Amino acid sequence: MDDQPHFDVLIVGGGHGGAQAALALVQAGFAGRIAILGDETELPYDRPPLSKEYLAGEKPFERMLLRPAALWAERGITMLLGRHVTTVDPAAHRVTCADGSTVGYGIMIWATGGSPRRIACEGHDLAGVHTVRNKEDADRMIAEMPQVCEAVVIGGGYIGLEAASALVKFGKKVTVVEALDRVLARVAGEPLSRFYEAEHRAHGVDIRLGASVTALTGADRHVTGVTLADGEVIPAQMVIVGIGIVPAVGPLVDAGAAFGNGVRVDAQCRTSLPDIYAIGDCAEHQSVYAEGEWIRLESVQNANDQAKTAVQAIIGNPAPYEAVPWFWSNQYDLKLQTVGLSRGYDDLVVRGTIDKAGFSIVYLKHGTVIALDCVNMVRDYAQGRALVTGRLAPPREALADPAVPLKSLVA
Ligand SMILES: Cc1cc2nc3c(=O)[nH]c(=O)nc-3n(C[C@H](O)[C@H](O)[C@H](O)COP(=O)(O)OP(=O)(O)OC[C@H]3O[C@@H](n4cnc5c(N)ncnc54)[C@H](O)[C@@H]3O)c2cc1C
Repeated sequence: MDDQPHFDVLIVGGGHGGAQAALALVQAGFAGRIAILGDETELPYDRPPLSKEYLAGEKPFERMLLRPAALWAERGITMLLGRHVTTVDPAAHRVTCADGSTVGYGIMIWATGGSPRRIACEGHDLAGVHTVRNKEDADRMIAEMPQVCEAVVIGGGYIGLEAASALVKFGKKVTVVEALDRVLARVAGEPLSRFYEAEHRAHGVDIRLGASVTALTGADRHVTGVTLADGEVIPAQMVIVGIGIVPAVGPLVDAGAAFGNGVRVDAQCRTSLPDIYAIGDCAEHQSVYAEGEWIRLESVQNANDQAKTAVQAIIGNPAPYEAVPWFWSNQYDLKLQTVGLSRGYDDLVVRGTIDKAGFSIVYLKHGTVIALDCVNMVRDYAQGRALVTGRLAPPREALADPAVPLKSLVA
């Protein structure tokens, strides 16, 4: 084992969190050896365009790289790509990869994101059934696009709706099948759901709510349709399953890490295992924006900010993770920006008229602003952040009046 490579900080996962962690270490003047070990073969890239501009053919991959290819070596960051960690040995401070190779570490940052949740029904493994998590997934869909007339998206969350909007740009006939009674039900209030349903329908998307999928049908091992619980079969040559992710924490959990819905981390992103931090989509933390509940966020903001928190702790300057959550989604000509977490709201206020000219929804709990969803309303998003971070409780009438700038409500 003496000749195994060893790094002072080994980052497992070369996505948003992993890349940011490496860059933040260098920026902080960390003098040790740093490596990113990731199972994708691409250099770190921007993941959100995969269901947006990249899928729609509007953005080349080169423009999605998080940094120019040469920068990693220039910064002294070793890239160990195309390698998948299968085992973590916390006592020996060593990981083992699927190819049998081992890598030693002083400190490890686990930044592995998650794997798309698969649909558990007959036909789930037919050709033409896709998930969207990485470049390979999107490339497979793009390659099949010319053979597709009809597509079904299973799941009316952000990724599913974004994919639907990209497919519409290619002129495909798209159906979205959602098991709940509205789209975006887990992340947004009803007015936002109804607005997005109407927008998609206006673009020709057939939205099926309260509909559950019982099987995917196929011919010659390729999908031909989606069967619903009522027996209807929706024809489809492409099916996109967008029903969430499963955090990629197996090796850490096997090694004894505490976990819930993700590997559990403290306020400095430390796991319960010695010298192992976890960040991003795979990590669950107690959020000050969720009244201390354990939550797992899936956003670029969270991955980047947790990376910075872990690095601060590693360089001996610890500070708790308290960044305000924010998120965005682009569909058609709609730019949604979200700040805060709306879960647990007991009241909401609509600012303006709900149409694509722009409006915002303000979520309140016990009168305090906890989140905003802003559609084509950058100003409200920018000004509303202070209401969320300050946990302010402005008068409801003022919040509802779009003529009242939100910044004027920040005392
Ligand atoms: C299609 C799509 C659209 C999105 N749109 C938005 C958006 O609009 N706004 C937003 O804020 N967020 C969006 N997100 C979410 C955002 O991309 C994620 O929150 C972010 O990428 C999380 O970063 P991460 O570093 O935790 O994980 P990732 O970026 O997923 O990186 C994890 C990396 O680790 C690798 N890996 C996993 N297991 C192992 C292992 N055992 N060994 C080695 N490597 C491993 C993975 O292959 C991957 O390369 C989107 C995500 C997707 C998939």
